[in-house]
Amino acid sequence: MIAILGSANMDLVVTVERAPGRGETVTGRTFVTVPGGKGANQALAAARAGGQVAFLGAVGGDEFGRGITDLLTGAGIDVSGLTVSDQPTGTAHITVDASGDNSIVVVPGANGTVTALTDAHRAGIDAADLLLLQLELPLGLVVEAARYARSRGVRVVLTPAPAVPLPVELLDAVDVLVPNEHEAALLAGVDDPVAAARNLAGRGGDVVVTLGSQGALWLHDGGEWPVPAFPVQAVDTTAAGDTFVGVLAVGLAEGVEWAEALRRAAAAAALSVQRPGASSSMPHRAEIDAFLA
Ligand code: ATP
Repeated sequence: MIAILGSANMDLVVTVERAPGRGETVTGRTFVTVPGGKGANQALAAARAGGQVAFLGAVGGDEFGRGITDLLTGAGIDVSGLTVSDQPTGTAHITVDASGDNSIVVVPGANGTVTALTDAHRAGIDAADLLLLQLELPLGLVVEAARYARSRGVRVVLTPAPAVPLPVELLDAVDVLVPNEHEAALLAGVDDPVAAARNLAGRGGDVVVTLGSQGALWLHDGGEWPVPAFPVQAVDTTAAGDTFVGVLAVGLAEGVEWAEALRRAAAAAALSVQRPGASSSMPHRAEIDAFLA
């Protein structure tokens, strides 16, 4: 069982020829709403890959919150630790221009109300083999959750995104750190992502630094193993990292060998980048099996 304590957002995505300047109004081309947030994305990736998943977090008592909750429950995810807050569901307001550049405003809303562990959160963590965390909920809560899980012997996997400097007490409670190259560089204060990952691995836990189309590198107990990316034609890499981590967590929770868990994670991410969208692009277990067969 995998517990995921994290964010759930509705992404409001507008495409435009060019983004408006200050004080300007422009006409958009298209508008879609897409469930997102790193927590919900990782939960969906893990559930589709066959994991037993409990999602812990908060949404608002609004249409967006109901949509996200339906998506999670439809994927078989336990939402008994998902609170309905008096704040609106978190939203990400995304503008994508004709050249593909985007600008994003995130309003945490209900996510920002998850400031301390509840009994439901503790029950979810107690029942889990593994706790997955990211940094889109208040940092104090993430620290509390990691320390609680550690005290209960539950393995902690952290995606340190968005990249912010982390307190040592959080890093000390993490068993598996999965930064992308930018997050690794920021956390270690070293530009080169591999040097940064070595630096982070020096504190003792496992580190998996993801390197986009270059794959990933797993650092464990003084050793390093490359995790090759599968050569595919990428059309949209949104949530590749969340797919990778969610599927890695399923392998680790099932007790498969690290190398195999990492290979399945890379395969799932390779499948997801060939399709547009975030949650809509995450593969099911049978697709991952077929891709690797
Ligand atoms: P995001 O923020 O978009 O979720 P990320 O920056 O956290 O992504 P990446 O390092 O870009 O994560 O990608 C995670 C994993 O996805 C990589 O380690 C790799 O296995 C796979 N991947 C990413 N891009 C590609 C690609 N173009 N082709 C094949 N695999 C890819």
